[in-house]
Amino acid sequence: MFPEEKIIKLCAKKHIKVGIMGGTFNPIHFGHLVTAEEALKQFCLDKVIFIPTGNPPHKTSGILAGPEDRYLMTVIATASNPDFFVSRIEIDREKTSYTIDTLKELKNIFSDRAGLYFITGADAILEILSWKEPREIMQYCSFIAATRPGYDIKKIEELKSKLDSFSTNSFKAQIYLMEIPALAISSTDIRNRIKSNRSIKYLLPESVSNYLLKHGLYK
Ligand code: ATP
Ligand code: MG
Repeated sequence: MFPEEKIIKLCAKKHIKVGIMGGTFNPIHFGHLVTAEEALKQFCLDKVIFIPTGNPPHKTSGILAGPEDRYLMTVIATASNPDFFVSRIEIDREKTSYTIDTLKELKNIFSDRAGLYFITGADAILEILSWKEPREIMQYCSFIAATRPGYDIKKIEELKSKLDSFSTNSFKAQIYLMEIPALAISSTDIRNRIKSNRSIKYLLPESVSNYLLKHGLYK
């Protein structure tokens, strides 16, 4: 059974709130997990679906592990949390993977049963105008943008009014801000550390670091 169908089965409520955590997860780390957990609690979401990208349209710097490895690391990292699920929607797609296609697919599966909340880092959402069909994206889901304490929200406010001014109807972009503890963890830094034989302890779940060491990823 696909995780999306499992969620529909597990949640008895008529209307549920589903968080979507998209990313390359190359590899997944505590920054991602803390952000998802915080969104779940602060926004009373029922479940969060992690969606590792297949062939991302935006280039990543450095080594990109295979989709299957990134998917498995995400499964391992989230396995013990009953509210976290991992979807293969993007990694099973053969063409370049766009967020708008994923959202359309999720909307098809959930129809009106679920409200979708796309969880991103504040920096990632500022790039939304460079994504495919940004205004359509905003109609399929609300956004939860994670900021660090002290973050200047002016840029997000500017983005919001830009998106609203492009809109032809009365539709307004829904972007919620969520403050999370400062977590200067990034996959790039973890990959660099592995390459130069520095410690990656306490930056990501031990089960994930065991997996990537066993399979010689990012060496
Ligand atoms: P890379 O360094 O390769 O870009 P990354 O650490 O940014 O990797 P991604 O998989 O690109 O991880 O990010 C997925 C999502 O998680 C994005 O929305 C990103 O903004 C967010 N994110 C990444 N790192 C953190 C963090 N430390 N705290 C909060 N959100 C994060
Ligand atoms: Mg990134």
